[in-house]
Amino acid sequence: MGRTDELVFDPGALSAAQRDGDACVACHKRWPRPRVRVGCLPSGSGVFACEDCAPALPRPRPAEPGSGAGRPVNGPAPGEAVSYR
Ligand SMILES: [Zn+2]
Repeated sequence: MGRTDELVFDPGALSAAQRDGDACVACHKRWPRPRVRVGCLPSGSGVFACEDCAPALPRPRPAEPGSGAGRPVNGPAPGEAVSYR
């Protein structure tokens, strides 16, 4: 797994606990310990968020423009059952 596309956080914007991975980078909560790695510091150490906050954080990958609900590309369209007689 490549880690080069991780979000790099500015250590100056984080508290010591956040830089150590002891506190959630978003809500500063220290317990339960944040478990989701959401990025890293320029030094390479991980930055973590709790499971509640991780989805709200920006992703390294840019969102696809104009993409709506993620629906499966290859799948039966609802209400389009074909019957041969
Ligand atoms: Zn949090």
